[in-house]
Amino acid sequence: MGKRKSKRKAPAKRKQIESLATMFNCPFCNHERSCEVKLDRDRSTGTVRCTVCSESYQCVINYLMEAIDVYNEWIDACEAANA
Ligand SMILES: [Zn+2]
Repeated sequence: MGKRKSKRKAPAKRKQIESLATMFNCPFCNHERSCEVKLDRDRSTGTVRCTVCSESYQCVINYLMEAIDVYNEWIDACEAANA
């Protein structure tokens, strides 16, 4: 009958984060969108700072990296520290 054959299987997608977003959830105080990322392209430095608990993190960035990458570096560093 009129049954559609092409049933698309939804891919297991990660929680979507807007690539242009610069406010992220804080792994320390768990506030949402409290962490601001700043990219200093001239110095190749990325800085994340929570506006609520003032935790901050800095890392070296390359021209391919975006705010989300700096944030991910921070999360990795946090997990490494807690391991
Ligand atoms: Zn915080």
